[in-house]
Amino acid sequence: MAKPKYHFNPKTLTYEKIEHSVFYYVKRVLFHLFSGISLGLLFFIAFIFLFESPREKQLSDQNKKLRSQYNLLNRKMDVVQDVLNDIQQRDNNMYRVIYQAEPIPESVRNANYVNNNQYKDLQNNSNTELMVNTSKRMDQLSRQLYIQSLSFDEIVELAKKNKERLQCIPAIQPILNKDLKRTASGYGVRIDPIYQTPKFHAGMDFSATTGSDIFVTGDGVVTFTGWKQGYGNTVIVKHGFGYETLYAHLSKIKTHRGTKLKRGETIGEVGSTGKSTGPHLHYEVRYRGKAQNPANYYFMDLSPQEYDEMLQLSANCGQVFD
Ligand SMILES: [Zn+2]
Repeated sequence: MAKPKYHFNPKTLTYEKIEHSVFYYVKRVLFHLFSGISLGLLFFIAFIFLFESPREKQLSDQNKKLRSQYNLLNRKMDVVQDVLNDIQQRDNNMYRVIYQAEPIPESVRNANYVNNNQYKDLQNNSNTELMVNTSKRMDQLSRQLYIQSLSFDEIVELAKKNKERLQCIPAIQPILNKDLKRTASGYGVRIDPIYQTPKFHAGMDFSATTGSDIFVTGDGVVTFTGWKQGYGNTVIVKHGFGYETLYAHLSKIKTHRGTKLKRGETIGEVGSTGKSTGPHLHYEVRYRGKAQNPANYYFMDLSPQEYDEMLQLSANCGQVFD
């Protein structure tokens, strides 16, 4: 029983006993009960947050492992993607060029058929983003591989039909350049060596000493020999199938109009005639009258590594001879 409480009454100058109603005691009991429950609940919640049960610990370890495996998988996919990109680049720039098949547009190669329902099962997971992204990348890779294999099927078919074309279309370098040291400047916008202004360079320059042999790069017929404004002494060969090649700045022409040539035959010697800043061969490949990048027409000469090196060398802007 609680001790009785008093308060001093200044009017009567006596201590008077304080009387409490039942309601007061009920309120006190409820207050104590409530604060006890709240404190207990608070400790319980803190415990749950601070300590894992063994089962939770096991699950979170598993989770960590899975996440690191996913990350590893992603890195492996990076490597696969790199290899695939390389194959796609060669496919568009070499294999398909050889058979005049249109390059497969980027949009088709990367077409990402995304059906978001597909990834619904992966939602509502703490690692949703990682899992969905990994699955999407995997699907995209499979699709790109599928398109790539279709392209190769098409090329095999074209190859069977194109034996003769292979004889004729330009496919080697026009001078001896096994070590690629003679590649001077490639196709594209280059600084003009004389006017020092940007200008479109429609062919590729090979630096070589005057008198070095120049070879025809595919079977064909000579359609022009002689002087051409800017080009100096020039030979043009028609290969059929829409192809022509042009050899400029020659010191000596060693063929005649109308001559039938086999790939690799000598047609002249390197010189510096016409608009030229030093002995070199300016070489152009044209398809249906339009200048093409000659770098894509050395596939009988160059291994894939050499091809890559050639592309890098020909991107060099410094040494155009025109
Ligand atoms: Zn040139």
